[in-house]
Amino acid sequence: MSSYTQKKLSKATLVAKADDYIDTTTGGITPPIITSTTYARDDRYNPINEANVYARDDNPSFVQAEVVLAELEQGEAALLFASGMAAIATLFYTLRSGSHVVLPDSMYWGVYSWSRSYCDRADIRISYYDAADAESIAQAMDGAARTDMVWVETPANPMMHICDIARAVQIAHTAGARVVVDNTTPTPIFSQPLTLGADLVVHSATKTLNGHSDVLAGAIVTRETDDYWEKIASERHGAGAVPGPFEAWLLLRGMRTLSVRAERASENAQKIAEFLNTHTAVAHVLYPGLPSHPGHKVAAAQMQGGFGSLLSFQVNGNAEATLAVAGQLNLIVSATSLGGVETLIEHRFSVEPPETGVPENLLRLAVGIEHIDDLLADLDQALLS
Ligand code: PLP
Repeated sequence: MSSYTQKKLSKATLVAKADDYIDTTTGGITPPIITSTTYARDDRYNPINEANVYARDDNPSFVQAEVVLAELEQGEAALLFASGMAAIATLFYTLRSGSHVVLPDSMYWGVYSWSRSYCDRADIRISYYDAADAESIAQAMDGAARTDMVWVETPANPMMHICDIARAVQIAHTAGARVVVDNTTPTPIFSQPLTLGADLVVHSATKTLNGHSDVLAGAIVTRETDDYWEKIASERHGAGAVPGPFEAWLLLRGMRTLSVRAERASENAQKIAEFLNTHTAVAHVLYPGLPSHPGHKVAAAQMQGGFGSLLSFQVNGNAEATLAVAGQLNLIVSATSLGGVETLIEHRFSVEPPETGVPENLLRLAVGIEHIDDLLADLDQALLS
């Protein structure tokens, strides 16, 4: 057998080829943007194209991105949403009142705060587990007659805790709970939770999947197209929580370079973490690619080829000194969000409420694809000034 014989396409090829699209009318190799909100029927009242009835569910502009994402995550199907939060909210909307969910105690603040207020009014009970310890999921489930959903985010934004996905799945499945993994931060290039047994993956496609800070979108990918998947699709249909055709088209275009962008940004993040780790003005670096990170071993075992583009670090000083460092940066921009080609920095203490416990001296760095020397020089001069 030739050494070039391969059974499965690599992730880099999957995204670059984007489902091998060839336009059957024009021969074009990139898809058009289909703006129509409705689709004609023939003289027997059948849809001219069976797949398309009305744009709240059907638009070829997002179907192609869904197919590529499902393949990338090794799931059976994917659905795009109008934002990451629209995808996440949809999962909570499928829960009945009286349900029990188990969430990490440290996670993306938007989900933490929205789920608290939604679950309170929907009569859904939340228990929290230690985001850095999958074993603690068992205690969080203990006492509940039944747990419906266990949420995992790893690496967790912005504290960079690592959760052992396979162990979380084992514990949750023993009690019949579904496992949802927010895979926004690592992307499927570095982490494929469905292959570790997770039931569903969610994405803020606004981040690295699109990669250019110009699209708001979300996605859910399922391991199995079962009855529960139908329920999710029906919730999306009911809410009409789909992206517009232009956003879906931009997302697909962005995803075609996902592999090179994610790899370059992750290489940059690793080098920055190593640089900051020995810097005199830095007290602590939180990045799972550093052997000193408490979750390094688990991350190295469950991630492939890199640790992602997000890292946090704590400077020597208080909130004021920390904000001064961000203010001194010339190249790196102070802004929220992550996963774009440009490096962004954020003082999460200024935007999260005190209850999340994010340290006042922490800066979150969403690393982009600029040249590493320029990024290191900018950080160094800001830390030393
Ligand atoms: N999940 C994570 C890990 C995020 O960082 C974010 C946004 O920052 C979201 C979900 C929400 O995504 P969106 O802003 O697309 O609604």
